[in-house]
Amino acid sequence: MQVEVMKNILGENDSIAEDNRKFFHDKKIFVLNLMGSPGAGKTSLLEKSIEQLKSKLNLAIIEGDLFTAKDAERIDKLGIPVVQINTMGGCHLDAPMIQKVTNDLDIDSLDAVIIENVGNLVCPAEFELGENKKAVVLSITEGEDKPSKYPLIFKESSLIVLNKIDLLPYLNFDLERVKKELSVMNPRAKIIEVSATTGQGISEFCEWIRNEVEHEAF
Ligand code: MG
Ligand code: ZN
Repeated sequence: MQVEVMKNILGENDSIAEDNRKFFHDKKIFVLNLMGSPGAGKTSLLEKSIEQLKSKLNLAIIEGDLFTAKDAERIDKLGIPVVQINTMGGCHLDAPMIQKVTNDLDIDSLDAVIIENVGNLVCPAEFELGENKKAVVLSITEGEDKPSKYPLIFKESSLIVLNKIDLLPYLNFDLERVKKELSVMNPRAKIIEVSATTGQGISEFCEWIRNEVEHEAF
């Protein structure tokens, strides 16, 4: 019974996600669903990248959060459009939430939308939003075991960002082993090492996004 309920919810979500996908496609907007644990550094990664991204792209951010607007306030300071979705405790964004906020964006002016999902390694990977690509941020402080414990989110993502790489000398984290494990789990994913603190890898992250925007066939 429980399984059936879940299936129905996902079925309804997926049909609205398809509507969203068609809507963004018609408007020629590339959409990235950015996922990761709380504290992985999703907002910090965006903060560090926006200057580079906004010089070449008309970008907007949709921020998912349980209750607060703290992350949206951080993005707002950087002078790009941002819309906050509060899930009121819900642990992921879903397609109807995205559909509801598209009117809050000046949609015809945009080339790309990045959706920062609620911090969670589990269900964000199960709920399609209508995005073109998924990316996951894993900070190396979270531990080596996360890919094997939460494989779906890493399998679904086209980009895996290993954040806080500046802390590598202080941690017991076998970077090469984890990268190898990720590349076996998802051979098609691009893996980028970044530090939102030092700026290492930020250009590579921005280039990946620009490349995706350019190569998306609208
Ligand atoms: Mg955040
Ligand atoms: Zn959830």
